[in-house]
Amino acid sequence: MREPPTTMGMSEVCDIREACCVESSGVKDRLVGLARDETLKVLAPKPFKRELLEAIAGEDCEALDVKEEDDSIQVTVKKKEATQSQEQERKMENCMVCGGSLQYLAESVEATCIYCGKSERGYIICPKGHYVCQLCHGKGAFDAIRDLALSTGERDPLAIAEVMMSHPSVPMLGCENAWIASAALVAALKNQGSLKITEKQIVEAMERTKDQALTGYCGLTGVCGVAVGVGAVFSVILDAGCPKDTETEVTMRAVARTVDAIANDTGPCCCKSYVRTAMVLGCNLAKVHLKARLIPHLEKVSCLYVRRHPHGCRASRCQYLPKRPEIPRLGRA
Ligand code: SF4
Ligand SMILES: [Zn+2]
Ligand SMILES: [Zn+2]
Repeated sequence: MREPPTTMGMSEVCDIREACCVESSGVKDRLVGLARDETLKVLAPKPFKRELLEAIAGEDCEALDVKEEDDSIQVTVKKKEATQSQEQERKMENCMVCGGSLQYLAESVEATCIYCGKSERGYIICPKGHYVCQLCHGKGAFDAIRDLALSTGERDPLAIAEVMMSHPSVPMLGCENAWIASAALVAALKNQGSLKITEKQIVEAMERTKDQALTGYCGLTGVCGVAVGVGAVFSVILDAGCPKDTETEVTMRAVARTVDAIANDTGPCCCKSYVRTAMVLGCNLAKVHLKARLIPHLEKVSCLYVRRHPHGCRASRCQYLPKRPEIPRLGRA
């Protein structure tokens, strides 16, 4: 195996002049990891030109400049800007970019977001090198969920969650569903009226959930963002905090109960199932700890996401499986 190509200081030069071919030179790894605001100069033997330009195009990059000198070429490379149509064509089930199956890693790797160019460590990547950061993954969803939470008059958190989950900006899987858990539950409690919940508290519960609901952590630590969302609602209403007593205890127990309940829905994880289970449980917890009565109409739920589950729907093992043949799928393909 060859050593990885060298990069030198600020100029970011990748020298593959000693490589035997582009494929084995390691330059593709550099292209995959290239941030959108970065440029890379690739030095390569002249006969590599065609293969190198193909590799550049294949990794969603463009050659800004190609210089030929004696036996070698120097190509200046930049990541292509995400076009408006790429943004609009985000896939909502698997890889947002290409729609292919994602890899769930046991150890994080350094990855660069295809949309904003931010580099960070991540656990979920596309084998084709596409990586989408949490911020870009949830683009548009937070505002849409918040606006629905602030405008609904519905008192059933399940019904509110169904509307939110069907919004086109909400992916099939991902922590956007955790934001829904907090938003739907706290909005229903506000509409129920006995607790005098404010709009500010709705947004606060969502913000706290956003801070602690992290992609893939349902499996990585066992604490799913949906449970965090329920905890955030209780914490905001009870005004829990480190120095507090019962308020924090109740909040923690609400989270623990939610984790325990959704653990019954695993194999594989399904964010839609977790949200629904958490909403029903949230109603029970609200009755016991907040003396607020919410009625979840579970009989009205008939899952519309069966064919969209990238890991495979739990089918007859899931209580939300439609009793009748599924009606046409909602939202994007
Ligand atoms: S029926 Fe399938 S897709 Fe729907 S909630 Fe259950 S596991 Fe998820
Ligand atoms: Zn992909
Ligand atoms: Zn991003």
